[in-house]
Amino acid sequence: MPANKTLRRIALANQKGGVGKTTTAINLATALATKKRVLVIDLDPQGNASTGLGMQRGERGQGSYALLVGQKPLAELMRPTKVPDLFLLPADNDLAGAEIELVGMDQREHRLRLALEAGADTLRDFDFILIDCPPSLGLLTLNALVAVESVMIPLQTEFFALEGVSQITRTIDRVKRVLNPALSLDGIVLTMFDRRNNLSELVAADVRAFFRERVFETVIPRNIRVSEAPSHGLPVLLYDPRSTGAQAYIQLAAELLRRERARGNKAA
Ligand code: ADP
Ligand code: MG
Repeated sequence: MPANKTLRRIALANQKGGVGKTTTAINLATALATKKRVLVIDLDPQGNASTGLGMQRGERGQGSYALLVGQKPLAELMRPTKVPDLFLLPADNDLAGAEIELVGMDQREHRLRLALEAGADTLRDFDFILIDCPPSLGLLTLNALVAVESVMIPLQTEFFALEGVSQITRTIDRVKRVLNPALSLDGIVLTMFDRRNNLSELVAADVRAFFRERVFETVIPRNIRVSEAPSHGLPVLLYDPRSTGAQAYIQLAAELLRRERARGNKAA
C-alpha cells in the first residue's frame, strides 16, 4: 500500500464529452498546486489534458499507456510542467489501443491502481492525483475508478444536465460493490454556467435538489478565457489569472481543501 496516507486520488469522470472534465482537471490541479503537490494523469487518448498543460503530441513520448501495460514505472514517465509542484503523466499516442489491449490482460481493471502503488516512493511527497478520464465508461475509466477514492463528475449547466448521469452513478455503485469499496462520489461540479441565462439557475437548482450536499457550492462560469487557454498550452490561471474562470477554479480548489479538512485529511 502507498506509504503516503494523505495522498488523495480523484478521478474526473463523465461518459459525456464536452462537459468540462479536462478543463477542470487542468485548472483545479493548477489552483491546488499553489499550496500542494499535484500529479495530473491524462487517461484520455485525445490527450487534451497533456496539450492543455503545454505538452504537444510530438513531444509526449511515453506516458499513461506505458504505465498501464507495465513498460515503465511512474518515476520514469511523469514530467514537470510550467507550473511549479504540478506534474503530468501524459497520454501517449498508443493509449487509443489500450481500451482493447487491456481486455486480455491480467488484473485488467486494477492495472493503474497497482502501478500507482508500485510508485509509492515517487508519490511520497504528493498530496493530490487528478485523473482525466475519456468520455466513455470503458476499461480506461474503470482503471481510474479502481485507482482512486473519490470521483468528481463535471456537469455542464444545460437543459439536459441530469440526462445520462445515472449511467455514471450506476457505474460508480457497481465499482464500489465489486472492485473498490473505498470509492465515493464527491462530488458534482457545475460547469459552463451562464449568468445571463435563467435556465442555468433552474438547472443548477435541479442538480442541487437531486445531489444535495454532494454538489460543490462553487460554480464554474462560461468564460471565453477558459476556452482560449489550451491553445496557448496554458492553464487559465496562468493565461489570464484575473478572468472569472481562473477565479472560479481558485475557489473550487479552496472548497475542495475545506471539504478534505472536514473529512479529516490532515494534508489539506
Ligand atoms: P471534456 O473533457 O469533458 O470533454 P472539456 O474540458 O474539453 O470537456 O471542455 C469542452 C469544451 O468546452 C472545450 O473546448 C473547453 O475549452 C470548453 N470549456 C470548458 N469549460 C469552459 C468554461 N468554463 N467556459 C468556456 N468554455 C469552456
Ligand atoms: Mg476531456
